[in-house]
Order: sequence, then structure tokens, then C-alpha cells
Amino acid sequence: MLEAKIKCPYCGHNETKVVDKRETNELVTTRRRRECLKCGKRFTTYERVEDIDLVVVKKDGRREEFDRDKIRRGLLRACEKRPVSVEQIDKILDKVESQLRVLKDKEVKSSVIGDKIMKELKRLDQIAYIRFASVYRSFADVTDFQKELKDLIKKT
Ligand SMILES: [Zn+2]
Repeated sequence: MLEAKIKCPYCGHNETKVVDKRETNELVTTRRRRECLKCGKRFTTYERVEDIDLVVVKKDGRREEFDRDKIRRGLLRACEKRPVSVEQIDKILDKVESQLRVLKDKEVKSSVIGDKIMKELKRLDQIAYIRFASVYRSFADVTDFQKELKDLIKKT
């Protein structure tokens, strides 16, 4: 059933074959190299084994389904023009998502997700980290954030 969802990013053809497979995290995703059966181009997919319902509790108490793509978009934006590869971004997502999915509780606060992502991003790129944090964090903790900025400016 996963197979049907995979489309060639180059020509849109929906028949591909797997040429290489690697478990990135046995709980969450499998990285596959695929080859389009029509145009022959190769590409990488990260396929999730299973979508376990994970509910994100937002700051205002509203709940929504965990949306990996949404977080990914935020990360991509934060890493724009930074020396962070898409692969590194996907690795962060894999890691954080697997941490979330092993939690017993299927409800997770959005701030918990944000903190986990920020922790990973901070190690990778300070500028991307600050960008992500400024969007993701609510500034109940403005002073913390200002401190982060000061530290960053000192370093650079
Ligand atoms: Zn193709």
C-alpha cells in the first residue's frame, strides 16, 4: 500500500523499484533508494512503517494530528541558505519522531516537540536554530531567547 503512494519526483510515474533499502530507525522510517520504471532516474524516499496516531496539544489547548511535513517545512525554512542538508533535516525529524513515538502517551505538547527539534538543530547550525526557535517558541521565555541571541552574537 505504501508502494502506490510513491511517485517519481521527476516524471510523476507511479511505478518504481527499490534498489537499496536501509532502516534509518526501526521504529519509524525506512530509507529507500528507488528507481523510476519509466524514466530510470533514482531518488531517495523515507517511508514510514506505520502511522501511529500521535496528537499534538497546542499552546491554546487545541489538538491536532502530528504533522511531520509541517515541521519539516519549518525546518527547511529555518535552514534556508544555511549549510544544512535536507538529509540532515530528515535525520533530525527521524530522531525526534522516534522519540515521540516511543512515549506511552499519545498526546504530546507542541512545546515538547519544539524543544527536541531545537536541541538537535542547535548542534547543527546556530543560525538555523535561532530562526526556528523564533518561529516555534512562544515568547513567554523572551529573556531566555535574548540570552541565546547574546551568546550567539558573542560567538560570531
Ligand atoms: Zn520517472
